Amino acid sequence: MKKQLLYVTAFNENGILVKANDAEKTNRYYCPICKNELILRKSGKVGKGSKRPHFAHYHLTENCTPEGVLHYSFKKMLLEKIKENIRNKTVMNMIWKCNYCHKKHEGNLLKKVFDVKDEYDMNICRPDIALFNEKGNVFVVIEIVVTHKPDDNAIDYYKANNIILIQINLDSEDNLENIDEKLNNPSIVDFCFNPKCPNCGNYKIKKELVVLDKKCYKCGRPMKICYISSNNGSNGFEKPSEFNEKEINFAKSKGVLLEMRYSKTANEKYLANTCPNCKAFVGDWFLYDNYILENIYEKNIPKYDMGYYCDECNK
Ligand SMILES: [Zn+2]
Ligand SMILES: [Zn+2]
Ligand SMILES: [Zn+2]
Ligand SMILES: [Zn+2]
Repeated sequence: MKKQLLYVTAFNENGILVKANDAEKTNRYYCPICKNELILRKSGKVGKGSKRPHFAHYHLTENCTPEGVLHYSFKKMLLEKIKENIRNKTVMNMIWKCNYCHKKHEGNLLKKVFDVKDEYDMNICRPDIALFNEKGNVFVVIEIVVTHKPDDNAIDYYKANNIILIQINLDSEDNLENIDEKLNNPSIVDFCFNPKCPNCGNYKIKKELVVLDKKCYKCGRPMKICYISSNNGSNGFEKPSEFNEKEINFAKSKGVLLEMRYSKTANEKYLANTCPNCKAFVGDWFLYDNYILENIYEKNIPKYDMGYYCDECNK
């Protein structure tokens, strides 16, 4: 069961957002969402069973939830942090797993950022936090998700306008204590460093031709074995039978012998790595199990850059 969220932030009498930890029982506090007065609950006890300091409503109004207050508070605190870091020219690093090329990316969020605003009205949508570049255009938005994911209209709008969407999912009031960490490891970053396809707008994938110097399993003479490795997740490999003409010619120019061979297991002919001496060939299954898998985590295998490729448009 999901832990129940507590109200851990409130406005003080000057309208400044404070945490229950820093609040005093002698002061008055108000809910950031419904604006009603709150009581500070702070027992001073710690340990098992004792709740952390928090606020409670005298009368809870219908449209006020701790989720709403968590969302509001995280947004305001992150906004202040970003403002401060823009002023001080501090780096805000993010690390994320790319949904396009499946690699880990790293980048400084504030690299080209000149200004930041919350709830900026973009007609179609109103992102929680919008980051502006030198020209005053929104180019990055941050959506903070407690219960409501950004809607599809907004996501499409960001995509169509080359606005990078960063999503930070929250699940506990503890998230307010580690804002930097949440930003360092955002839940989703809709951005890849690969170039975009000018035709369809998708990120391209990078292809590399791997050429291994091996010995023929039959005659023992030298034999080159090739396949293509692409940063396309689990389908990130292509066997010669899947190569296009350009790739076939490129592999041949690197000394690989590719010939149409008949595979008994597949009951068909396909292009395969072939031994120049005895014409034994490496079938697709064998290639995958014995050569591709072997090199999955190997960084220092000989590779040739085949450039970027759009999976969508097949070019
Ligand atoms: Zn309230
Ligand atoms: Zn990527
Ligand atoms: Zn394309
Ligand atoms: Zn051979």
